[in-house]
Amino acid sequence: MIGERGLARYRTIIPRWREFVDACTRPLPVTIRVNTLRASPRDVRDRLTRKGFSLIPIAWSEDLFRVETPRVSKTIEHWLGMFYIQEAVQTLPVRVLSPQPGETILDMAAAPGGKCTHIASCMRNRGALIANEPVGKRQPSLMANINRLGVLNTTVTSYRGESFPMHARFDRVLLDAPCSAEGTLRKESTLRDGATRSAIARLSRLQQRLILRAYDLLKPGGTLVYSTCTFAPEENEGTVSHLLSKRDALLDQITLPFPAERGIIAWNDEEYAPEVARCARIYPHQIDSGGGFIARLRKPAR
Ligand code: SAM
Repeated sequence: MIGERGLARYRTIIPRWREFVDACTRPLPVTIRVNTLRASPRDVRDRLTRKGFSLIPIAWSEDLFRVETPRVSKTIEHWLGMFYIQEAVQTLPVRVLSPQPGETILDMAAAPGGKCTHIASCMRNRGALIANEPVGKRQPSLMANINRLGVLNTTVTSYRGESFPMHARFDRVLLDAPCSAEGTLRKESTLRDGATRSAIARLSRLQQRLILRAYDLLKPGGTLVYSTCTFAPEENEGTVSHLLSKRDALLDQITLPFPAERGIIAWNDEEYAPEVARCARIYPHQIDSGGGFIARLRKPAR
């Protein structure tokens, strides 16, 4: 059931509401992202197929497969870091970030490391990646994933993102923000009622501080990707509008490899910066995965 007091408040902004509700109550498909630092998509597909797993390619990404057979985490290929079990929607922010070998990149909120290890594989382990995670109990999983996937260009730090030191500037920053996580409701059924208003308000205040620091840490001409796994406009378009009102950031139009919804420019009594229509909203019924929001911003080159 989708609770009337929670997610139903999005009824006017989520297209094909009935399909959305149906998708939210179906189990989340298991997908794996091939770690190209360790193996090719063909290696992984052949090895797992020989072991009896059924792998279905995801049309819009050659590194992604849907796995129909349970227990893929128990294979030697998983332990060797040849793939990472990751929701398809969670691979999109790094795709939009487009990391390049040799760059200097900050992943400001990194644990457990799904996107950090993806960034490192796009960088082909060249350049410097800072994986920041302030919550101590989440750091072991981040470090374990970095080791398991053979990531060699990464240093782990533990600052609160909003006070990350300003000693260095980055070519790209990913802020995959702490959020109310409503888009993960297919694996966490307690979220089907949506997040509480007080949690959303608290998180959006934190996100506003984080996005300002993330932007300030960019080199001129640098790129910031802001992503969440929630539907709440206060945490998505609201946070991006806050940055646009405080800094000279440029917001890019996002194009994904499948049709996605645009950011919304008004919600209840709130109006957001009109440019936020360039952001992307992804819903579970549109790609049979979780939900999310992505914005890509640039700092003007001087
Ligand atoms: N990017 C990660 C991945 O793909 O595996 C998921 C990140 S999760 C959505 C958000 C993370 O932000 C959590 O690990 C949380 O502990 C961390 N976090 C919480 N408060 C933070 C803060 N003030 N600064 C930076 N990160 C914070």
